[in-house]
Amino acid sequence: MGYTLQRIERPPSGRPHSAECAALAAADGGKHMGETKKVPELFGSMVFNEAVMKERLPKDVYRKLRRTIGQGLALEAEIADVVANAMKDWAIEKGATHFTHWFQPMTGITAEKHDSFISPMPDGTVIMEFSGKELIKGEPDASSFPSGGLRATFEARGYTAWDPTSYAFIKDDTLCIPTAFCSYTGEILDKKTPLLRSMEAISKQACRVLHLFGKDVSRVTTTVGPEQEYFLIDKEDYRRRPDLILTGRTLFGAQPPKGQELEDHYFGTIRPRVKAFMADLDEELWKLGINAKTEHNEVAPAQHEMAPIFATANIATDHNQLCMEIMKKVADRHGLICLLHEKPFEGVNGSGKHNNWSICTDAGENLLEPGSTPAENAQFLLFLTAVIKAVDEYQDLLRISVASAGNDHRLGANEAPPAIVSMYVGDELAGVIDAIVSGTAYQSAGRRSMDTGVPVLPVIPQDNSDRNRTSPFAFTGNKFEFRMPGSSFNIACTNIMLNTAVADALMAFADELEGVKDLNEALLALIRRELSAHQRILFNGNGYSAEWPVEAERRGLLNLRSTPEAVVHYTDEKNVALFKRHGVFTLTEMKSRQEIIIEEYAKAIRIEALTSLDMLSKQIVPACIAYSKELAETVAVKKSIGIDAPAEAKKAQELTRLTAELIDKQEALRAAVAGEPEDMTERALYDHASVIPAMEAARAVADALETQVAKRCWPMPTYGDMLFYV
Ligand code: ADP
Ligand code: MG
Repeated sequence: MGYTLQRIERPPSGRPHSAECAALAAADGGKHMGETKKVPELFGSMVFNEAVMKERLPKDVYRKLRRTIGQGLALEAEIADVVANAMKDWAIEKGATHFTHWFQPMTGITAEKHDSFISPMPDGTVIMEFSGKELIKGEPDASSFPSGGLRATFEARGYTAWDPTSYAFIKDDTLCIPTAFCSYTGEILDKKTPLLRSMEAISKQACRVLHLFGKDVSRVTTTVGPEQEYFLIDKEDYRRRPDLILTGRTLFGAQPPKGQELEDHYFGTIRPRVKAFMADLDEELWKLGINAKTEHNEVAPAQHEMAPIFATANIATDHNQLCMEIMKKVADRHGLICLLHEKPFEGVNGSGKHNNWSICTDAGENLLEPGSTPAENAQFLLFLTAVIKAVDEYQDLLRISVASAGNDHRLGANEAPPAIVSMYVGDELAGVIDAIVSGTAYQSAGRRSMDTGVPVLPVIPQDNSDRNRTSPFAFTGNKFEFRMPGSSFNIACTNIMLNTAVADALMAFADELEGVKDLNEALLALIRRELSAHQRILFNGNGYSAEWPVEAERRGLLNLRSTPEAVVHYTDEKNVALFKRHGVFTLTEMKSRQEIIIEEYAKAIRIEALTSLDMLSKQIVPACIAYSKELAETVAVKKSIGIDAPAEAKKAQELTRLTAELIDKQEALRAAVAGEPEDMTERALYDHASVIPAMEAARAVADALETQVAKRCWPMPTYGDMLFYV
């Protein structure tokens, strides 16, 4: 296969933080862990991590395994056998009976096929076995995973290969081996492989740049801390909402009398039921070595957030995938349902996933830390410039990495960043950039400043932690926070785009600067030139304002409002060239991914439309008819004994009129669905233009009816019921 196991090391911060764990344990007081199990003992107890490897593997095997991981070599068969056996013994002691290669196909979720360890003996008994071959390679049938056309051209068989840079772990009595997933001919079929490739690309180029600054660095990793937003609702309510069950979001629902206008939920006291869920969730995540750190209420009622301590992009991605799965499982145990859809409820905030991203050397130096020594500041400015250039040149790719039917509801709505990609660097850094571009001296607003080490470069103010919540891509002190990803996304896609685009900018810089006589002079010229060229991407104003899209258009920034509009740019020539240059994707692989995004979109809209039609015919319209009949009968009964009932009569009439309108809209939606073109790209565009508006039109009438019909007759829980449960 095209992919060789890469050498990815964890920065110090990617490891379990014993100090942080101890602090957490102290804060927790062991309450949720039973009397005996404290957090440090619990943490990582289900992970075949460094400590376990060291303890369980013979010294020479451990050494060879470390070297294999470090240098990206293939694992020798004998070594693999010893490692597999140690893993199996460890897993069995922890109660495991099965193993699985755990991978991330292009569905966005994870996949696993369990095999038990049993191996029959001639005497009818069984022994528990797990070979090196089984550890290293699996052969799941690839034919039922989305392959975006790759299946037509290549063999259906696929294989999974162990990614030893991510530890094996036990989940549901099963030893899970994190793996990459490829087709037999080497085309990648997953999200992990290109992520590893992009990490390799940025490492290579960042090292070249660091060597210019005289640094002896051989490995650079990207670090990611994804903040995960989600909703929790009562399971009984969920069961009575076919829309939530089938599409993940409510397709109907009038606004409740109270929404998020009082802003009393954000960081509010966590209700006991949710608190119990969070404690349980933390425990499950800690067992898997996931640094769950922050839990709080979010802006919308029933919305919450979990943030882990950051790790390498690869591990952060694996962990976030696990996190989403475990959130759902744990919620279920508490009689709750965890909704990860980007927009489960109209009228209140949707859920996103903030991708905090930085670059770190093997010596633990954060390259986006403005730093305190002169030389580092020039270096910081160069890396900052690289990110600015990358985001400007590949706005389309970043937008595509967050494109889905669900996230389209969020981007551009007033709680989430707009669909226009722009960057926020804070007033101070923006001032520094202005000064560089215009060649004037930077005047810091009286704050302590630092020398950049390059005499002509302005000094960088230390306080640059301003916050701008409306920016899609904000510098937050020593990392960038990309706020466009949707809550249900696999963050691999975003980080593949980001890593590769930044790698490309760094490559251009290294090409230009290597071998120059006067580095300082060349550096300043380069930074000034690139910042002037890409300054248009910087925007420190309000991203939700009506003026911004107009201003963005004037600047020539892209405004790709919907998924179908965005995804056509995936295979633009410059993007194909980018991924080819860095060996991340071939054209075929890109086309397959493009096709999958479009298909997923069209399928999601079709399912939503059919679910809407179903709920209308089977639940909503019958409820409206029944209630207006009840009113009409009341009128008739009252009349029969000589009581006039003009109010009831008027209400029955109004309901009858609205119901007729609803049936019209329902028919219009049915016709819109029937008119869907066959071709997927055309269908996606058509869905956006015709099916979604037809769905919304029907919903508007149904929601108006909901406010008119008696609660006891309404066939499903309302927004008020779902968002304000106890
Ligand atoms: P906020 O909600 O204020 O933006 P949080 O504390 O909720 O901040 O989340 C910040 C996230 O950023 C955490 O996951 C944190 O670990 C992560 N983070 C911090 N430093 C880095 C870094 N150098 N690289 C990547 N992620 C980082
Ligand atoms: Mg946060």
